[in-house]
Order: sequence, then C-alpha cells, then structure tokens
Amino acid sequence: MDTVLTSSPTEAAAFVRRGQLAAFPTETVYGLGADALRPEAVEALFEAKGRPADNPLIVHLVARDQLAQVVAAVPPVAEALLDRFAPGPLTLILPKAPDLPSVVTAGLDTVGVRFPRHDLARAFLRACDTPVAAPSANRSGRPSPTTWQAVQEDLDGRIACILRGGRTEAGVESTVLDCTTTPPTLLRPGAVALEQLRGAVGTVATPSKNDPEAPKSPGTKHRHYAPAARVKLVREPSTLEAEPTAGYIGLAAPPEPDRLRRCHVVPDAEAYARDLFHFFRDCDHAGCSVIYAQVVPPEGLGRALNDRLERAAAR
Ligand code: AMP
Ligand code: MG
Repeated sequence: MDTVLTSSPTEAAAFVRRGQLAAFPTETVYGLGADALRPEAVEALFEAKGRPADNPLIVHLVARDQLAQVVAAVPPVAEALLDRFAPGPLTLILPKAPDLPSVVTAGLDTVGVRFPRHDLARAFLRACDTPVAAPSANRSGRPSPTTWQAVQEDLDGRIACILRGGRTEAGVESTVLDCTTTPPTLLRPGAVALEQLRGAVGTVATPSKNDPEAPKSPGTKHRHYAPAARVKLVREPSTLEAEPTAGYIGLAAPPEPDRLRRCHVVPDAEAYARDLFHFFRDCDHAGCSVIYAQVVPPEGLGRALNDRLERAAAR
C-alpha cells in the first residue's frame, strides 16, 4: 500500500471515513486513527501496529455530544475533570457504551476517552465525524512518534495516510485516569500531572507497582517505548564513564560530553519529555549501542518521564 502524505485534515479524514487508517498529530504524540465504530478498521489498526489484542485503545473525540456514542455514563467526577482538562492530554476511563465494538476496548467493559487540544487533530476529528480509536502511531514496542517522519519510519506502506503536522509539544502520552473507581485511580502518569488532578478533584489513588491486586491498565504490562539501543538509567551523571558508541540525555551535564556519540542536556522536565523519544530515534540512526538516561525527581511531569524511562530500560 502507498502511504499518502498530506497536510489536509479533510483529506486524511476521508481515509478514516472509508474504513482505512490515518496517522495524525496531537499535543502529546502522533496517533494512528481508525473509525471506532467499524470493527474491521480497528482490527486492521492492531495488525498495522503489531499491537497485542489485549491492549485497549483510547477513543478520541472533538465534541462533548459524541460521548453518548462511546460511554454508558459520565460520573460527576468525570464531568468536573472534563470541564477542567478537556480539550487536553487527559484520558478518562469510563463505562463503555454497549454498541461500541468490543475490539476497541480489548473486551473490557470500560473505555478510555480523550479530547485532544491540538488544532490539526481537532480539524481532523471534526472531519472524521465519528469517534476515532487511536493508539500512538508507532510499531508496537517502539518509541512513540513525535514527528511525521517517525510515523513514516515505522508505518510507511502499512497505513493509508499520514497527516503531516509539526513536532509534538508534550512528547509524552496522555495521563490515563480510571473514573470507575472512587476515588479515581491513576493508571498511567502522563502530560497532565498528578498534582494538577489532585488540585481539581481532591483525592486520586496511585496504585503501587508492587501491589499485585492493584488495578492496572493492560498496556502497562507490555514492553514499551524502546529504541534499538539498550537504555540504562543513571542517577548520578557525574559518575558516567563516556563510551564512543553511547548516547546520553538528562538534566545534568556528564563529565566528558565530547566523548559520547550523542549528548543532549535539557533545561527542565518539560524539555526532557518533549525530546526523549526523538532523541531515542536519533541515537538509533547514529548507531548508538547504549543510551544513558538520567532519572528525574518524581514530581510533576517527572513521574511520566520516569515511567517511560523505566519501561524503555526494561528488557
Ligand atoms: P497508547 O494509546 O498506545 O498510548 O496506550 C493507551 C493506554 O491506555 C494503554 O496503557 C492502555 O492499556 C490504556 N487503556 C485504554 N483503554 C483502557 C481501559 N478501558 N482500561 C484501562 N486502560 C486502558
Ligand atoms: Mg503507545
């Protein structure tokens, strides 16, 4: 299949309306969209990504009145969160509408919904005129794409269309919050910080990774975000020993940056998140065998960042 590149949201949406797959930019990372109400289109999406069938998809919407097509109920806490954070990088887990094809939710009776804020994403979703199921537009397991070129690298020839936008702003995925529990439960840290959620609705539960009983997002058990190079986490960059085939990314400068193949020192957690997946892919292109990544303080965006770093480093 030839993958069409376009800058027109209506042209990209036309593929989705025909039951095909189109990638599009959002404020977090690029997504790969399919009509959520057409099970064959959603099955093709799992196939194109090589995504495990037990990992549910997030449904993307542009207007509140679309919620009735995908969810069975919106509890008051979810209303309050939508008022505060939609449109934006927050995904809410809600009870699923009976008519939503179960392939979207991997058989679960809940569904993740999100209203992206990105202008091009909104124009695309409006033109699709249907709820759009969209995971990140990478081959399963790889770093999420933050440029259209990264989407092309992973999915060229496997999807119908790529809607070209700029580099994405947040660089990490949406925060996933389960609103079917009281209080709501954080399933995946992301671009909306836990502190912001607590500021809006009070208590938010954070299941411990070591608790086997803790509610989980199915996706968090799969290997994720990994470049071809090994990722090794660093707590003290000052002790890093430079290697000629190594890359380094972090807030603190390493002792001998010139002896590394790639070195990217970022000013803050926001810049770190924005650049992380791009840097991973850049290191792969440069033939790095290992990437050292500094672990950051677990607050604000730092929680999401550490989560992605830990998963990228797990083999
Ligand atoms: P991705 O779109 O690839 O960034 O991943 C979406 C994330 O949301 C994965 O971690 C999924 O497991 C999670 N997710 C989507 N729908 C649900 C759901 N109904 N219940 C729990 N987690 C979900
Ligand atoms: Mg993903």
